Amino acid sequence: MAYDLLIRNARVIDGSGMPSFHGDVAVKDGKIVESGKLQGPAKRTIDAEGRAVAPGSLDNHCHYDAQVTWDPLCTYAPHHGITTVVFGNCSLALAPARPEDRSVLAGMLARVEAIPMEALEQGTRWSWTTIPEYLDAIDQGLGVNAGVLIGHSAVRRWVMGEDSQDRSEATPQELEEMKAIIRDGMAAGALGLSFNRNPGHYDIRGKLLPACIAPHEELVELSSVLSEVGTGVIESGASAPFELREGLMSRMAEASGRPVLYLQIAWRAGAPEQWKDHLAFAEDRINQGIRVYPMVNPRPSINTFTLRNAQLFDRMPSWAPIMTGSIEGKLKAFRDPEVRKVLSAEAVEGVGVNYDIFSRRWDLISVHDTTLEKNRPLIGKSVAQIAQEQGKGILDAFLDLSLEEDMGTEFEAIQLGGDEASMAELLNSPYTVVGLSDAGAHLVFEANDGFSTYFLGHWIREKKIMSLEKAVRRITFDSASMFGMHDRGLIRPGMNADLVIFDPDTIALGPEEKVADLPGGAVRLRRLAKGVDYTIVNGEVLIEGGNHTGALPGKVARNTMYAHA
Ligand SMILES: [Zn+2]
Repeated sequence: MAYDLLIRNARVIDGSGMPSFHGDVAVKDGKIVESGKLQGPAKRTIDAEGRAVAPGSLDNHCHYDAQVTWDPLCTYAPHHGITTVVFGNCSLALAPARPEDRSVLAGMLARVEAIPMEALEQGTRWSWTTIPEYLDAIDQGLGVNAGVLIGHSAVRRWVMGEDSQDRSEATPQELEEMKAIIRDGMAAGALGLSFNRNPGHYDIRGKLLPACIAPHEELVELSSVLSEVGTGVIESGASAPFELREGLMSRMAEASGRPVLYLQIAWRAGAPEQWKDHLAFAEDRINQGIRVYPMVNPRPSINTFTLRNAQLFDRMPSWAPIMTGSIEGKLKAFRDPEVRKVLSAEAVEGVGVNYDIFSRRWDLISVHDTTLEKNRPLIGKSVAQIAQEQGKGILDAFLDLSLEEDMGTEFEAIQLGGDEASMAELLNSPYTVVGLSDAGAHLVFEANDGFSTYFLGHWIREKKIMSLEKAVRRITFDSASMFGMHDRGLIRPGMNADLVIFDPDTIALGPEEKVADLPGGAVRLRRLAKGVDYTIVNGEVLIEGGNHTGALPGKVARNTMYAHA
């Protein structure tokens, strides 16, 4: 038999965690045929001496819902060896959507995920109404494979209209309608459901997301649809406190009989020991047969913001109306010494605000960039340090600088993932799921696509926190299994040929650059990869030497219910 593609002389890391070996991988008709010592012939042979070949990574938490319609590669995921992305997270989705609801749904994505509204308006190629239509629409000419979750906010909007953001309780009739939509979406191959418990997630109009005002009972009831259909996974944003206090994720896991992946577990500046209790809690639940997995992001969470677009302060009661209001309102409020006192009480002295809401670690908030040349020496300094040097209060130092630059000063806040020993333990734990890149979101201030290259470069080569075999398993097979992808995430005969060829000695996240390639010309940040030679999707080379080959071999990754229907 002539293979379509033969990768020779590679270090084969098959995704199972078993020891790697030196050998070949053969591909035909989009599938892996065999691995080992293989003879040709093949239409194309790649000599991968000195390189590793592994299953392509799965990015289990992104927000490419709109971007995929103008950028079917979901840049820059495949540049980092990612062959499958999962979006529809955190309750946010663009289906189902009536034409008159499009801008409202886009406005949720724009505000919560900090994607420029103009890019969404100019770029999104709306051509669907229902979830099955959305899956079919994006399944044309995809670069990477895409798995889609059904977003609670979109479903609630469809059924309840504007009331979905005004009224907490849904009627029994409305609940039944929501369940029917979920059933249809699952039958069409969606991978599961997504929810959101973030009490500070507002849309572009300043209203809380539909998902965020729904009562817990609604989430549990909707989860039960997955027990009827016998497949799927549940993702839930900002849900750790609700699991730890009230066992909400556990209730959803029991009602659905499915794994629940929730955000998130990390070393946290404001509560540096808390992850230990959380991990012990998850271990205990999972050992009782309740599959609730906190997700862990290998990258530290550095939130870059200006006071024009910051979300960091949204959950403090005095800050919320100012931060979601107009630019003029912000300028006026921040100049007012009386308002400053109130804001400082919450954000600096911590009156009525616990670490959950705002860490108050002004030593971890620093200047990222300035608009005025004279302020450049402040770059890299923390607000706490600047306040001390200037002999001012913390909030005065912060607001004076920002106002002087017409609120254009860029700050960065390290909130999560700062302590490496703690993070190494979390990344290794079988009770966590690694991923959570948030790629496709916050793209004006962060380049999130490269979680896999950061993981393999920083944590594995530099910090040696686990074997390369285990690391590959963590970002391929483990996630694929969790999301019910039965045919991806391993190098094994019959599996889809999603592969990455990389150099374990050089793989890394590249430097940050600005590119003006969003629809309408808006600028976003990107970080390309180092040490990734080829990304192969369904047997076709998609990225070679960092460049797109022109192939569009991706497919919508549909659930087992669809596969066996
Ligand atoms: Zn998200």
